[in-house]
Amino acid sequence: MAKRDYYEVLGVNKNASETEIKKAYRKLAIQYHPDKNPGDKEAEEKFKEASEAYEVLSDPQKRTQYDQFGHSTNGGFGNYQSHGYSNVNFEDIFGDFEDIFNMFGGGGSRRSSGRSGTQRRQGSDLLFELEITFEEAAFGATRQIKVPKMETCTKCGGSGANSPEDVETCATCGGRGQVRRTQGFFSLTQTCPDCRGAGRKIKNKCSHCHGVGKVRVEKSLSVNIPAGVETGNRLRLNGEGESGQNGGPAGDLYIQLTVKPHAIFEREGNNVYCDVPVSFVTVTLGGEVEVPTLTGKAKLKIPEGTQTGKIFRLKGKGIADIHGRTIGDQLVRIVVHTPTKLSARQKELLLELQKELGDSAASGNGFWDKVKGMFE
Ligand SMILES: [Zn+2]
Ligand SMILES: [Zn+2]
Repeated sequence: MAKRDYYEVLGVNKNASETEIKKAYRKLAIQYHPDKNPGDKEAEEKFKEASEAYEVLSDPQKRTQYDQFGHSTNGGFGNYQSHGYSNVNFEDIFGDFEDIFNMFGGGGSRRSSGRSGTQRRQGSDLLFELEITFEEAAFGATRQIKVPKMETCTKCGGSGANSPEDVETCATCGGRGQVRRTQGFFSLTQTCPDCRGAGRKIKNKCSHCHGVGKVRVEKSLSVNIPAGVETGNRLRLNGEGESGQNGGPAGDLYIQLTVKPHAIFEREGNNVYCDVPVSFVTVTLGGEVEVPTLTGKAKLKIPEGTQTGKIFRLKGKGIADIHGRTIGDQLVRIVVHTPTKLSARQKELLLELQKELGDSAASGNGFWDKVKGMFE
């Protein structure tokens, strides 16, 4: 069953503040709370739905992710179809890719920072923007990319310590990462000021990562770009995002594609358009011209009396769709080339021709008949 939009569930708009979201949830939670509606399945479902929506929208990181990717399951972005990418089945693309990625605004570090330093956490997803040529988009390509990211330090295995003996349980909090403080009648739980919530302390730090447990690396990856991709398409490389923490899985790498404009070709769907200049003699008398296509030159017959703007179709000379099931056409638009820098002799000949053609040269397919009466 399709999930309802979280904002819709809470009845707030997309720009709702944290306070508005909290208020909306509280209202629904009170209304549908199982204690107030014993045995009412519908109320129970509504309560669950609202709680789930609140869980995501109340967390800035999860909310950003949801805004970008919609309903996702535990960080896996499954549901592109309903978010404006309907022309491409991303399951197909993703299925073919072992690897893929650009940074979600450095959002990675937020997911991995936490109260307790011992919790398993998935690494952040990364987003990498890749510009490709028109031809690479049309025919597919393999590109080598270098992705800057944080990886678990190989020297200390992520502990940040010089040796295992250098890791001690924090004495202040007993490894819990939190301490209780009593002030008068109040008892407060605070992040341990001694270990800053990590629960451990390091006597001698790892010399490679200086105690961070991660190092910044530039990872070289090979990206397979399938034929038929377009600007805005994203490819995913599983597990090529930031490393996880405390043995958690790595995030994924998303590669967002931008196709560079081509000097002469333009794309619309799987069809390729191009303007071809043809001499007025050829369009008048008919003939054959060479036209560029994505796969080389092709010959095009120009019938006698072809007008400027006429479009000819070269079947199958377009772009194969992403699933390889159909192939587009090339559409050639004739643009009559007006000669310039004519010699005196050439001008003389043209004037002679005009005289010979008489009024018929200027009549323009009954154009003036159509505007008759406009200026009277
Ligand atoms: Zn501590
Ligand atoms: Zn290290």
